[in-house]
Amino acid sequence: MPNLRLMPVCLFSRFASASLVAALFFAPAAALAEWYQHSFNVMGTRASVELWQQRVDTAKKLAREVELEMRRLEAAMSPYIESSELSLINREAFSRPVDISPEMHALLERSIEFGDLSAGAFDISFASAGHLYNYREGVKPSASALETVLPAVNYKSIKLELKKKGGTTVRFTKPGMKIDLGGIAKGYAVDQGIRLLEKHGVQAAMISAGGDSRMLGDRGVHPETGERLSWVIGVRHPRDETLSALRLPLSNAAISTSGDYERFFDEAGHRYHHIIVPDTGKSARGVVSVSIIGPKSIDCDALSTTVFVLGVEKGLALIDTVPEYDAIIIDANGSLHYSAGLAAGK
Ligand code: AMP
Ligand code: MG
Repeated sequence: MPNLRLMPVCLFSRFASASLVAALFFAPAAALAEWYQHSFNVMGTRASVELWQQRVDTAKKLAREVELEMRRLEAAMSPYIESSELSLINREAFSRPVDISPEMHALLERSIEFGDLSAGAFDISFASAGHLYNYREGVKPSASALETVLPAVNYKSIKLELKKKGGTTVRFTKPGMKIDLGGIAKGYAVDQGIRLLEKHGVQAAMISAGGDSRMLGDRGVHPETGERLSWVIGVRHPRDETLSALRLPLSNAAISTSGDYERFFDEAGHRYHHIIVPDTGKSARGVVSVSIIGPKSIDCDALSTTVFVLGVEKGLALIDTVPEYDAIIIDANGSLHYSAGLAAGK
């Protein structure tokens, strides 16, 4: 890939980031309050919570509650944990309807909506083919293995049903079908964390899990000028993790970045990575990084994966139909592309 032109801090007004280059550390107005930061590993990535609180013991307690909430979601949604609700669904939903929690129902329903919105580019049943890859070990399926599993990649074969006595079930109508919420669950977990902090009256915070971040409020007031400060979020350079390709000032917003550098191996000049085109069962080509900015992390997360699969033209066309969401795409040549909302504000 040719050298990516590095951009200075962008001045898009709604903008903040994924690799958390929070460069501004001026204290908000209240004298005794302070920023409290807590990091932990969850959902296969590094997560962090940063919040502004009067009392450090309260801040600690709230950050820990966010961690526990994210751990709860991991225990339910992980395909790697045998006892998770998701693993149970994958084991049994073809042979019988499986009872699911209201939360799982809501996430599956939302995932199916993204499938409809993207004409199948976002498809949680990609995992029927996706599980044949092992990026750490450099393993990919043969053409014939892919051909065998592809009929099971179709989110329309996921059937959610209401039970007469209340509650819902999920059923798969294709043998060999597997689902994976890796394209949406981290964003949901970040939203849940923000919801929890808001419920406790927190007005300024940022939560991130890997490429998914959401900011509540802003970074406070500049002590000398009295100006309100944004969070500054860096989108990493797709081929050099020590560099930012973009730095974005953002407040009260979410941002998710999907990249072909997260889980991958290179072989014979090809990159095999974790974002899969449902029609082919192969890694998406054409773009190397997609960032989506908007109000909710769950939507930014699903849309970043979706736009990655769709590519520049179709991806931007889709985002331009979704109110309040914008996209920045870095293509395989290192060129930047913006959705109409951002291009207009540049
Ligand atoms: P993200 O972390 O948001 O970039 O999304 C990548 C993750 O989404 C992958 O690790 C998979 O778990 C999942 N995924 C990959 N391809 C698809 C797809 N076509 N539709 C939905 N989820 C996907
Ligand atoms: Mg995503």
